[in-house]
Amino acid sequence: MNGSPLLGAIEAGGTKFVLAIGSAPDDIIARHEIQTHGPGITLAQAADWFEGQRSSGELAALGIASFGPVELNRGSNRWGHITNTPKPGWADCDIAGYFAKRLQVPIGFDTDVNGAALAEFRFGAGETSASLAYITVGTGIGGGLVIDGAPVHGASHPEMGHIFPRRHSDDSEFVGICPHHRDCLEGLACGPAIKARWGASLSELPSEHPAHTIIADYIAQLVNTLIATTSVETVVLGGGVMKTDGLLARVRLRAAELGADYFPGDVERSILAPALGDNAGLTGALVLAQSARV
Ligand code: ZN
Repeated sequence: MNGSPLLGAIEAGGTKFVLAIGSAPDDIIARHEIQTHGPGITLAQAADWFEGQRSSGELAALGIASFGPVELNRGSNRWGHITNTPKPGWADCDIAGYFAKRLQVPIGFDTDVNGAALAEFRFGAGETSASLAYITVGTGIGGGLVIDGAPVHGASHPEMGHIFPRRHSDDSEFVGICPHHRDCLEGLACGPAIKARWGASLSELPSEHPAHTIIADYIAQLVNTLIATTSVETVVLGGGVMKTDGLLARVRLRAAELGADYFPGDVERSILAPALGDNAGLTGALVLAQSARV
């Protein structure tokens, strides 16, 4: 395989960067993780790793699935930048430009959740669907949407975590932790919001604790909102909070109740766990690389 062109991938997260090279999106040859520090050191370490992989073959393109917000408009001179993140040092970081210059390869670039949505659409839970949404419920809540085979960008990119759900009747006191909106979905249902409210992660709370019902209700509201607004066929629910035992079943049940026989149809088929597990983001970055390859 020496000399065969390879695809590179970066899943750029707020706490770690996951790097990989592969011959195709579903064939990862090597994988490496680095801690996310400031952009200077993190981007240099990532580029060094790719340069160290040259014995496996030359890189034909690099895909980056990044935490955001990011600029996705190809017509903008800020395309490929992380924009106004509160993460220290990363605002206005030209992440795509850095790797284009260091590695001299074409760059594919999108949000981490659009990357994961693309990966699940092509190789995972969405293999039989024409449209798919990927939602992650973890440190934050985000979502990506693939319609007709392409990720939806719009004016920038969807920010599904920041919708405003109807408050659960047993959750009227908590003010929420979103620094922008307080009690948007992320402010009420992400991992840190659960910890702030009940002093433990959802998986640490006993199954009869009301937190399970409350969080399932909020996530089900997002699922139904997505189906109502986009008519998406498949909704994949990933992220650390979704690994809680029984949560997916509770979300399905609540989505069916809220849908009241109107939508979302068969929740066992339309609301799914990620088929690619924790590899969705990285696989998505390889899909982005494949699309950028010239
Ligand atoms: Zn918010």
